[in-house]
Amino acid sequence: MTDPAIPDLAITGGRVVDPGRGVDDPLSVAITGGRFTAPGDAGQAAETIDASGLVLVPGLVDLHTHLYHGVSHYGIDPDANCLRRGVTTAVDAGSAGAQTFPGFRRFVIEGAQTRIFAFLHVAVQGMITNLVGELEDLRWASPAQAIGRAREHPDVIVGVKVRLGYQMVGNDPEPALRLARQASEQLGLPLMVHIIDMRKPISWLLSQLGEGDIVTHCFHASEGGILAPDGRLDPAAARARARGIVFDVGHGAGSFAYRVARTAIAQGFPPDTVSSDLHAHNVAGPVYDQATTLSKLVHCGMSLAEVIRATTCAPASAIRRAGELGSLAPGSAADLTGFEFRTGERALPDGAGDTEVVAALAVPRLVVRAGQAHHLDPVTPGPEPPAGS
Ligand SMILES: [Zn+2]
Repeated sequence: MTDPAIPDLAITGGRVVDPGRGVDDPLSVAITGGRFTAPGDAGQAAETIDASGLVLVPGLVDLHTHLYHGVSHYGIDPDANCLRRGVTTAVDAGSAGAQTFPGFRRFVIEGAQTRIFAFLHVAVQGMITNLVGELEDLRWASPAQAIGRAREHPDVIVGVKVRLGYQMVGNDPEPALRLARQASEQLGLPLMVHIIDMRKPISWLLSQLGEGDIVTHCFHASEGGILAPDGRLDPAAARARARGIVFDVGHGAGSFAYRVARTAIAQGFPPDTVSSDLHAHNVAGPVYDQATTLSKLVHCGMSLAEVIRATTCAPASAIRRAGELGSLAPGSAADLTGFEFRTGERALPDGAGDTEVVAALAVPRLVVRAGQAHHLDPVTPGPEPPAGS
């Protein structure tokens, strides 16, 4: 029996940034039994990690990833690409549907050290192939099966996913949205909607969504975006945010444009959540990982505290795990990420054909998942910019 007054682990010497509680101070962190405890206990811990030079934040939550490797063409290994890159909680965005979810849980979620949640696709097969759009034929959609599966796995399934691009649903997104809504409304869970290449205006979609629903790929530069052709923010987006609709980055291979992000942020419209949409076709660039996505959003005008909020307490509350995750408060799950900030210039592509030189890079060096610490080798993605640029 260990003495409950003696923490298992203390992390000292770092700068603690916990935006959900308005904390930005040099503090110690103490952990006992996989939970944070009062920082005052840190002095007597069984093990101490010196985090001098690191910024310590709640374990990163990446709200949009694809982790069903071996089954979905998008799937990547969660621990190599999430935990070992500073992400303690990854949310899979619809790789599995009702019929493929049991395998996802058994063969991926249960074997991973990364904490994984899932949005369940309303298409029963999920997102297996890019050869056929998953809801080009609506017979693949089953709200009834989605509802049944989500009720069997309430600890892991946190919402419903649908993609409304013409490649997935054809020219009319309305029937697929209606079926997905049916499932999410009956479950009382958020609906996450992929908006790129939707053949209806964003104002139409936003009028169909309610509080807590999530628009992902919010800074894409294709059809159906949040900016009018003159660059002004669509007033429907501001009204939707006021109603509690969540705007998520979902960087992806072709879903994030520096120019759209910068223009929206300058008009007072930063994203609510910053996520990577990391998958097999973008992990070697342009996305690389969640930390690089965070660096890009700072580059586009968000403050460090805003960006950390958008990958900690904000996504935790979007999946209704606020308090448990995304916080360093005593009693929360002991998930933590420690960053080093490097001013080493990198030429980083967005998902819209532009490359910009990003000067400040957040490089994860320490990750703690449920009280277990892992030291990370520094990875700085992307090439150095060409001389003279
Ligand atoms: Zn995605």
